[in-house]
Amino acid sequence: MRYLTAPWRAAYVRKALSMENCIFCDALRSGDDRSAAVLYRGRRNFILLNRYPYTPGHLMIAPRRHLADLTKARPDEGAELFELLRLALRVLGAAYKPHGFNTGMNLGRSAGAGVAGHYHLHVIPRWTGDSNFMPLVGGTRVFIEDLDQTYERLRPLFDRHRKV
Ligand SMILES: [Zn+2]
Repeated sequence: MRYLTAPWRAAYVRKALSMENCIFCDALRSGDDRSAAVLYRGRRNFILLNRYPYTPGHLMIAPRRHLADLTKARPDEGAELFELLRLALRVLGAAYKPHGFNTGMNLGRSAGAGVAGHYHLHVIPRWTGDSNFMPLVGGTRVFIEDLDQTYERLRPLFDRHRKV
């Protein structure tokens, strides 16, 4: 998978590696979905925004269980992960009308995982030419919207699919 260049991610990755807590388990334990950027809670997995997005709408799907090894995922966890991927593609498609998506996992630190102890699936909306149209100012990528705006846009769409 080829990602956009995001030089500022190096600092984030260093920070993530040094953290003892798991950002996914912390987000799951949080009682405040908005501040934890949690968009959807499934039975076995949940969806949250990436705080350092490559593009607007960059989100992640992770199991509720703290698990590094994807091969140890139970069938019901794997099946729901795929179901939530399809849900995320539908919601992001409706909200952003992207031209395409990158989706995938970095398994293990050598493969580029910022948080290697808890596997997670990235879902990244892409637009033709997006690596060119987002200007770099002072080394910082300028996004069309901030994280709160993204959350406000996506949460109601996920709420519509919430199982009662
Ligand atoms: Zn965890």
